Amino acid sequence: PGKKVLIVYAHQEPKSFNGSLLKIAVEELTKQGCSVTVSDLYAMQFEPRATRNDIVGHLHNSEAFNYGVETWEAYKRGALSKDLIEEQKKVQEADLLIFQFPLFWFNMPAILKGWMDRVLVQGFAYDLSKAYDGGLLQGKLSLFSFTTGGSKEKYATRGDIRYLLWPMQHGIMHFCGVKVLEPHICYAPENVSGEKRKEMLTAWTQRLKTLWKEEPIDCSPEWYFK
Ligand code: FAD
Ligand code: ZN
Repeated sequence: PGKKVLIVYAHQEPKSFNGSLLKIAVEELTKQGCSVTVSDLYAMQFEPRATRNDIVGHLHNSEAFNYGVETWEAYKRGALSKDLIEEQKKVQEADLLIFQFPLFWFNMPAILKGWMDRVLVQGFAYDLSKAYDGGLLQGKLSLFSFTTGGSKEKYATRGDIRYLLWPMQHGIMHFCGVKVLEPHICYAPENVSGEKRKEMLTAWTQRLKTLWKEEPIDCSPEWYFK
């Protein structure tokens, strides 16, 4: 109770399976006494593109635009665009970040990748020599909860799904100092029976009930590639 959770959600349709997983998380965590904030990226029409518009006012170097340098400088002088400042505030306040999305091309949907690209600015999420265990978002937890088109069996025979999680969990969250909980994967909700779908939804509710007792994974190459 009292924990703050930010759910960053990337699905267009509230009636989708992802929409149902979101609803469950909001209800269950709220019931536990957590304060839950949702960034519903499509509903917000969140801008995924990393452009000059993310910096208000003058540029540090107007001769040749460098997005990383410009957003770092803008962060320091409080000149990032309003949407980014709002998302950063939500991240700053959260104890746990949950990312809820359908897998797109072995990765997160572009709108969510854009959220990562634009919100996790240098100076805010990491800095020179402040990365991985020293990242600036230390003390927070993250959880990637996603659905697939492919079945569990297909993934088991065509390459471990953990390979896909290396860029997301290690390359982004761990890089920023955020600890990573076991991912939550619902395989092929479109192709299973209604009964199996209900089971998957119940399993998510059950997992959330004991979530705060979980230990983060050992986010090192061995977890992904051994
Ligand atoms: P939905 O179609 O919304 O849901 C499935 C079913 O569950 C629906 O019939 C819905 O009505 C029902 N449902 C919803 N809520 C409930 C409820 N409460 N109780 C019972 N039933 C319910 N897949 C891969 O595996 N790998 C990829 O690389 C990949 N790349 C993709 C790239 C793109 C561009 C796209 C569009 C898809 C890709 N996919 C891939 C497939 C994608 O991951 C799946 O289509 C997606 O994960 C399914 O989730 P959903 O929430 O959209 O399902
Ligand atoms: Zn790691």
